[in-house]
Amino acid sequence: MDRYKKQRTRMVETQIKARAISDVRVLRAMSTIPRHLFIDEGLIDQAYNDSPLPIDEHQTISQPYIVALMTQALELKGKERVLEIGTGSGYQTAVLASLADRVFSIERIASLATNARKILDKLNYYNVAIRVGDGSYGWREEAPFDAIITTAAAPEIPQYLIEQLAVGGRMVVPVGGRDVQTLYKLTCPVENPQEIIKEDLGGCRFVSLIGESGWKK
Ligand code: SAM
Repeated sequence: MDRYKKQRTRMVETQIKARAISDVRVLRAMSTIPRHLFIDEGLIDQAYNDSPLPIDEHQTISQPYIVALMTQALELKGKERVLEIGTGSGYQTAVLASLADRVFSIERIASLATNARKILDKLNYYNVAIRVGDGSYGWREEAPFDAIITTAAAPEIPQYLIEQLAVGGRMVVPVGGRDVQTLYKLTCPVENPQEIIKEDLGGCRFVSLIGESGWKK
């Protein structure tokens, strides 16, 4: 029996549904995925708390609500090819892999990518490809993507990623300073693909995107 199931149900009810996340597929995925397996053993009691948590290499696993908000904004129905920048712990990757056809995830820190790969394999997420590198360039060989999610904050909207977004696709990205940012949803409309629609989803705090379209250090 999964002794964390109760904690997961409470997390979804009080942190996610209560904040108006209504996509039933997102709610179901987050009720099922064992978030505690993506977290260091010493912090396991906090796995379902309403906060981000530290992971190795001074990075973080995002707050559950933020994972839900970003995932809902991608409007996944099951057939999409998704690009994720910033694999981190692999938890957000697992949520995406439960809701889409294929996930391509890029992480700049090799040890995090290796660790995430191990957990995702253990949980049988075979529809995930992980690559180590600067995700701000995107993954050109696999483009275009129906959905793109950046889980590290950029100073500006990364142009390489916009170029790899499919017509009709959605992208979520935190943009702003090193401490606080705004979460944006960008849509490439079928009727007029040149006119990217930009929507403000609210304030947020992410670790920095380091690379070509991010900060240098
Ligand atoms: N979604 C993750 C999770 O559920 O654990 C949280 C990711 S953490 C907030 C952001 C991640 O982005 C870090 O692991 C960091 O190393 C990674 N990152 C930063 N800049 C990057 C870049 N240019 N390319 C790929 N990954 C990057």
